[in-house]
Amino acid sequence: MVADLHLHTNFSDGTFSPEELASHGKRHGLAAMSLTDHDTVEGCPRMAAACASEGIEFISGTELTAELKGIEVHLLGYGMDLENKKLLSEVARFQAVRQNRIHEMVARLNRLNVPLRAEAVFEIASCRSPGRPHVARALVKAGFCGSLDEAFERFLKVNRPAWVPKCKVSALEAMNLIHQAGGVAVMAHPGLNRTDEIIPEIVEAGLDGIECFHTKHSTATSHHYLQMADQFHLLVTGGSDCHGLNKGKPLVGTVRLPYHHVEKLKSKVAERRAALAGPQSALHPSH
Ligand SMILES: [Zn+2]
Ligand SMILES: [Zn+2]
Repeated sequence: MVADLHLHTNFSDGTFSPEELASHGKRHGLAAMSLTDHDTVEGCPRMAAACASEGIEFISGTELTAELKGIEVHLLGYGMDLENKKLLSEVARFQAVRQNRIHEMVARLNRLNVPLRAEAVFEIASCRSPGRPHVARALVKAGFCGSLDEAFERFLKVNRPAWVPKCKVSALEAMNLIHQAGGVAVMAHPGLNRTDEIIPEIVEAGLDGIECFHTKHSTATSHHYLQMADQFHLLVTGGSDCHGLNKGKPLVGTVRLPYHHVEKLKSKVAERRAALAGPQSALHPSH
């Protein structure tokens, strides 16, 4: 039994709907899937229903963009209570930041004599968590760029003229947010962000796991992080980081996390939920 715990849909910058994603998961024989859209949990209820109808176990999830000491860290949250008020109000705040960033990028494009309208980006995104890929798609659709790659190369990549730095929440704040909603916090694709130097500190602050298996991790990279997981007693997770058809071939199912890691993740979530419920409920389980 295998799982893919890092997936995106059109509730952020992926192209698949939750239903399409679940049906791909079924074709690849996945036993469990999580949906980890950027700064949102909005797609989770639909993904849960889609997984249920395909006979796939669903784990609630999100991917928060955070930072520690100026280093960008993506934190995956798993198993959160999707009705948690603090979680919902904070992700709404992150989404407002994303929407403002779109307006700023469009303003920069306009100053470069590219008359893209912000509405065109929001229309393509049609979600509350828009990002650079949506701006790229809008640029292609309006005929200002020939391809998504061109849009990034000319305008949107870091330090290109329409790039706007993202303001990020601190990694500690992001982990607290996940924890108080009953979830576990996992560092996403450490091999991409060069985060090794901050790992001890972030573990000290409550990191629960590390994404050892990822499409962009080589076998040696995965092995390196498996050793770190062992050293710091962290959960091991993995996922394809599929964004649908954004970059050609869909990646869902290409990373196959052995199911025993999902079992461990679920026990950790259960532990956290019990701790949040407090000693009262442990003493009086019938209440
Ligand atoms: Zn990421
Ligand atoms: Zn991702």
